[in-house]
Amino acid sequence: MALIITDECINCDVCEPECPNNAISQGTEIYVIDPAKCTECVGHFDKPQCVEVCPVDCIPVDPAHTETRAELQLKYERLMAAKVPGTAQAAQG
Ligand code: SF4
Ligand code: SF4
Repeated sequence: MALIITDECINCDVCEPECPNNAISQGTEIYVIDPAKCTECVGHFDKPQCVEVCPVDCIPVDPAHTETRAELQLKYERLMAAKVPGTAQAAQG
């Protein structure tokens, strides 16, 4: 699953730079996670880095974006392939 930031977010900014997928950005009121980019840190770390650093524990899994670990791994691989010039096309398949 992708994770989601709830309205308990205090805009402390610490999670954004920790995300290996650049999935976190500042929204209109609180920080937001792009579910297309969040792999729950699968492929990068054992644990979701944003959850590790969030001081108010406001980043649960998003029930609207349920994915298996295998799907998260595939998302990770696509994101990585898209970063490398010349392999982006292969990543679309
Ligand atoms: Fe980024 Fe990982 Fe948090 Fe997802 S779980 S938003 S990939 S830091
Ligand atoms: Fe909001 Fe938690 Fe991120 Fe801080 S670490 S900006 S409280 S989601």
